[in-house]
Amino acid sequence: MRISRKANVIEPSLTRDLFNRALRLGDVINLTLGDPDLPPPQNVRDAACTAIQNGKTRYSANAGLLELRQVIAELFTREYGSPCNPAEDVVTTVGGMEALYLALSSSIDPGDEVIIFAPYYVNYVQMVRMNGGVPVIIETNESDGFVIEPATLESRLTRKTAAIIVNTPCNPTGTILPRAVLKEISRVAKERDLLVISDEVYKSLVYDGAEHFSVLEFPEMRDRTILVDSLSKKFAMTGWRLGWAVGPKDLVAAMTKMQENVAACAPLPSQYGAIEALKANTDIAYIRKTFAKRRDLIFQRINECPRLSALKPAATFYIFVNIRETGLKSLDFALKLLESQHVAVVPGVTYGKAYDDYVRIAFTHDISVLSEACIRIRRFVEAL
Ligand code: PLP
Repeated sequence: MRISRKANVIEPSLTRDLFNRALRLGDVINLTLGDPDLPPPQNVRDAACTAIQNGKTRYSANAGLLELRQVIAELFTREYGSPCNPAEDVVTTVGGMEALYLALSSSIDPGDEVIIFAPYYVNYVQMVRMNGGVPVIIETNESDGFVIEPATLESRLTRKTAAIIVNTPCNPTGTILPRAVLKEISRVAKERDLLVISDEVYKSLVYDGAEHFSVLEFPEMRDRTILVDSLSKKFAMTGWRLGWAVGPKDLVAAMTKMQENVAACAPLPSQYGAIEALKANTDIAYIRKTFAKRRDLIFQRINECPRLSALKPAATFYIFVNIRETGLKSLDFALKLLESQHVAVVPGVTYGKAYDDYVRIAFTHDISVLSEACIRIRRFVEAL
């Protein structure tokens, strides 16, 4: 069978590979996927069920129900203090992933370069490649708290740079980018006429009273930023596949045109769920509280474990664990841990080749399961 070059450039994800190996083994504590185990809020589930019962199960406009776009536009104005026209500036998508994909396919041409900060969400690299673009990776270091050095950004720009992807809070490190860094990125984007794709899907999962910042706080960024957000992490609704993008109307129009040819629209019952989730004062404090407790536990246990260490994630439900002192590289560590202790984690190389001394743990399990996972991880490391 002839397979396209585009499909062939996609590297199979190590996250999924580990996830699938874990499935085959059975009794595994699976800490691979960023898929919250908590139930979505009851009012949101009710709203979607009612929509289904009432036959609201057909196609919507390609950009999504106008009522939903209105709710998203109001939310956007509340969060960023900037006006938003629901009919022109918003497109709803099949998860934040499709918003990212449509943003890239509507804004870059073959050969265009897209800046990605590492460690990165692996799909950025793949999506840039799928659209004929060239990912330009800028690495960050644990010693800097995985925060971007703006001077490095400038040194990597070329005539072909078209866009910068900014992910804050960050998967896999849980880092929140400081306002000063976002200001510098914004200055560079403006000076070099670049698009910023601002992926903020974890912005509600911040801990210890930390504040989330966005390039959209700088007024000059409104017409060169596409915001990507979704219900997945905020409301623990990954399988509902409901995301959105807010941005300049020409880009949103292009994305909507693409949407017509890719998915037609986001799933309609999920759109009704989203209206309820975003409109009603939906209580999601339980989600943040639960993850905060788990983060405290896992942070402590990992740092108590000989030869392992990790920075405290300021946000998200991931911890990026330094395994350098074990002497194992990340894939070896993950495979041996899985084999011997039936705990699945993601090798750090997934997030960039410089991160072979790390593994990512998603704390998307109950605290008792996480405690057991930590005991097994310790047993594994002590036996090395
Ligand atoms: N962006 C980041 C950084 C993510 O980690 C994810 C999911 O793991 C997404 C976007 C997309 O999430 P979804 O498509 O479920 O909204």
